[in-house]
Amino acid sequence: MPHRYCVTFRVRRVSYIARAMKVPEPLEHESFPDSAYAKELRRGFPELRFAPDLERVFQQFHLTRSRARARFFPLALGLLALAAAVDLAVLDSVPLRDVALGWLGVVIPACLALTLTSWSRFYERLYLPAARLLLPLIATVSAFGVADRRVGGHPDLFYFLTSFSIAIFFLGGQLFREALLVDIFMVGALVLALAHAGWPAAEAIYYATVLVITSAAGAFVYQGVERQLRTSFLERGLLSEMVARDGLTGLKNRGAFDDDYARLWQQATRDRRSLALMLIDVDHFKAYNDRYGHQAGDAALRRVAQVVQRFARRPLDIAARYGGEEFLVALYDLGAEHLREIGEELRESIQALDIEHDESPAGVVTASIGVSIVSPRPGRSPEGALQLADEALYAAKRGGRNGIRLVDCYGVNYSTGAFRRSA
Ligand code: GH3
Ligand code: MG
Ligand code: MG
Repeated sequence: MPHRYCVTFRVRRVSYIARAMKVPEPLEHESFPDSAYAKELRRGFPELRFAPDLERVFQQFHLTRSRARARFFPLALGLLALAAAVDLAVLDSVPLRDVALGWLGVVIPACLALTLTSWSRFYERLYLPAARLLLPLIATVSAFGVADRRVGGHPDLFYFLTSFSIAIFFLGGQLFREALLVDIFMVGALVLALAHAGWPAAEAIYYATVLVITSAAGAFVYQGVERQLRTSFLERGLLSEMVARDGLTGLKNRGAFDDDYARLWQQATRDRRSLALMLIDVDHFKAYNDRYGHQAGDAALRRVAQVVQRFARRPLDIAARYGGEEFLVALYDLGAEHLREIGEELRESIQALDIEHDESPAGVVTASIGVSIVSPRPGRSPEGALQLADEALYAAKRGGRNGIRLVDCYGVNYSTGAFRRSA
């Protein structure tokens, strides 16, 4: 019996592990039509490039991620060049003047300069521009140095070029296209250098072909690595967008709103600008659900959300579903009169959706809106502004619903004068 028990246990454990290790499905990106990440995932980016804005973010991400390798690579390359120089000067007794021309005079200082940029505080600004300039230079000088040294009928130090041609992809910190360009440059330089040094055509073709093959092998594997990296970058971005959104309406959810609002509050404090919060609550919505059903309620909320989203037009404005049938819009730096007009327009637009609601006095779905205008300053609290908007909303409800109430930063209620608080 114990034996059989043991077997079943094992079988179960294996199936648990198999389930736990199930290959994850690709992220469902079809339902995010307006996401830049989803767009690129759908397109498949065959040319290993994203749209300009996203490409910039990706390159920044890649640069940060490849820093450790960018620190190691020029250092290793410099040491390899130093070994080559010692090989020539000490073991082969090449006059120091000849060695100094190539390896000591150009390659090692260039590797040193790259190493310094990769370790410096300004790595993000300096490394790539320096690499764009210095890596092709190292490739060219090395190709000429290698072609110049014929030992026993072979180019001495050819290993430097082949190692460089592969390492450039995986360690250079550049993206595929730039690294490929360096390799193309190096093959071109080697062909010229072999011709210049008077190598027989058959041997020149042989060595150029070997370099093309190692470069092509590196390029082939690395383009797959970069494609994978780009895909996981897009999926991470899409995932963070999904986490920030409300599943029903597609608006930002409360957590995302709180994060953005905290940032907006800091900016308004710095710039000494005002901030308005508009809290929108659908009227008699419980009755709507009871009368038309929960699914119709969901559909109505989606349509209201689309209207709310239209009112956060500027880059700093935020629209979110705050919970249930409540929405929140944060508007940056607008005066009271302008806000009153916007709030009124929003209220009318919701009514104009013309969603039938027998249980509501208007006969259609309406909403009440509470607005607070605050001047964020050090020591004032962001929650206070929200509290004020909530109280203004409550007043709008008490005033008969389908209306708007507005409270300014010093607590003067423009409609009833009932508020005397500061945010
Ligand atoms: P008031 O005019 O005072 O705002 O009345 P109300 O009925 O809208 O307010 P109440 O807070 O009593 O009810 C809110 C209702 O919103 C209750 C809940 O069933 C409904 N609701 C909240 N979230 C959802 C949702 O995601 N889908 C649907 N269909 N209904 C929701
Ligand atoms: Mg409510
Ligand atoms: Mg309500």
